[in-house]
Amino acid sequence: MAKRDFYEVLGINKNASQEEIKSAYRRLAKKYHPDLCKEENAEEKFKEVQEAYSVLSDENKRRQYDQFGHAAFDGSGGFSSGGFSGGGFSGFGGFDDIFDNIFSGFSGGGFSGFGGNTGRSRKVRGEDLLKRVHLTFQEAVFGCDKDFDLDVTETCENCHGEGGFDSETCKTCHGSGTITQEQRTILGSFMTKTTCPDCHGEGKILKRVCSVCHGKGTVSVHKTITVHVPSGVDTGNRLRVPGKGAAGTNGGPAGDLYLEFTVSDHPYFKRDEDDIYLEVPVSIVDATLGAKIEIPTLSGNVKLTIPAGTQNGEQHRIRGKGIQNESTRHTGNLYVVIKVMIPTKLSRSEKKLFESLAKEDLESTEINKFEKFVKENDR
Ligand SMILES: [Zn+2]
Ligand SMILES: [Zn+2]
Repeated sequence: MAKRDFYEVLGINKNASQEEIKSAYRRLAKKYHPDLCKEENAEEKFKEVQEAYSVLSDENKRRQYDQFGHAAFDGSGGFSSGGFSGGGFSGFGGFDDIFDNIFSGFSGGGFSGFGGNTGRSRKVRGEDLLKRVHLTFQEAVFGCDKDFDLDVTETCENCHGEGGFDSETCKTCHGSGTITQEQRTILGSFMTKTTCPDCHGEGKILKRVCSVCHGKGTVSVHKTITVHVPSGVDTGNRLRVPGKGAAGTNGGPAGDLYLEFTVSDHPYFKRDEDDIYLEVPVSIVDATLGAKIEIPTLSGNVKLTIPAGTQNGEQHRIRGKGIQNESTRHTGNLYVVIKVMIPTKLSRSEKKLFESLAKEDLESTEINKFEKFVKENDR
């Protein structure tokens, strides 16, 4: 089949400006994109357009072409082994990549053929994702199953992350993924190995782009996942959910999802890791005479006997009534902190009782010692 003239392919005249070449290319690339065009030979036409554009958009190649025609790129010329026939149309980066480039007007310079930086050549693990999660005190203390709505990128099932189908051995590098070039310098000639520009080191070229993921190999999905949050998590803790991060590229494994927690305070239970501190207000009478008081714990109420003469701030440990930490298998304690309440309002009769108490010499070694110190200090 005779090769068509490049100007004819793009439907432009010989004096077309770069702007005209670009716009003709944009129009035709979109028209014949194999993913969009149902016409027979769409792929052939697309390749033809691509080839014509790659030559005419390069002033240097265009000059050679104007001078020598297709012969300029035959044999050992500009496009070595295989040229554009099949091999040239190498694993292009897929629909989105192409049109991103086209519609951005080739900004950023250097629209270097198709394929670009899609990273098709390497298996890359997906990114880890971090999600902040707020838990109530109870959810954190007892653990819970929580649903999360996530937008995740997953490996495209249609193409198994390959981005397309019908891979064939790259004609440029014959499947090795690298090409060897001779470089002449004043010190002699060297053979240098570089990544094959056509298959980007893959050694294979996809002939058909996946219509589900448009060549990306990944798809974005909205899904709800249920994660078990173990009992005992606290503010700042992170939980790793393996494989629930972003999908990998080129069949690489997915990243992990990390949940970072913040936990609400409880009005009475204060946490110190797996221990719980509970301040219990006690009347001056109960503290003085001793009492049996009811103590709330994470697992129901218990009775606690406080001895006569209990002081403000005294602590009582109730073993094993803290948090049962599922991750560490450690169980904390409950610490009851006594807060002796001094009455601020007294009835007439209560006031009388306190006044009669004042006449008594209430024994307290602490007070006696301190009064002695006060006297000595004044000498
Ligand atoms: Zn190659
Ligand atoms: Zn796909």
